[in-house]
Amino acid sequence: MNCPKDGTLLESVKVTDIELDKCHRCDGLWFDHGELQRVRELNVSDIEQQIEADYGDPKFVPQVPQGYMRCPRCDGRLQRRYFAGHTAVEVDTCESCRGVWLDDGELSATTHKRRTIEENITEGRLTALLRSVARAVGM
Ligand SMILES: [Zn+2]
Ligand SMILES: [Zn+2]
Repeated sequence: MNCPKDGTLLESVKVTDIELDKCHRCDGLWFDHGELQRVRELNVSDIEQQIEADYGDPKFVPQVPQGYMRCPRCDGRLQRRYFAGHTAVEVDTCESCRGVWLDDGELSATTHKRRTIEENITEGRLTALLRSVARAVGM
């Protein structure tokens, strides 16, 4: 597979038993569907630093490609989406295979956000919020 930003061949890196694909040029990471969830469930906030310590931390800043980026796995179109439904972090996701591309620093952002979000939103409050939204739209 090749980096959607700069075309560099991705190399596999391991986080415990989870195998990810990393671009050694721009430091981006590819997660197949479900892998990002598994990495986040490890609940380690400095996992990106660990990967960089093990596999290198290049400082190359890629140009954002013209048009849209293509999925390294299935060649589908990558779409910029808010990560896990909140607005602090945007990530590139594939609509077809549901893989996720994270630029340098974005994995740290998602693992840090996970903590703050789960500290701040209890399930009860979230359910109440959803109910009020449902009422507002007349469901
Ligand atoms: Zn790259
Ligand atoms: Zn895809």
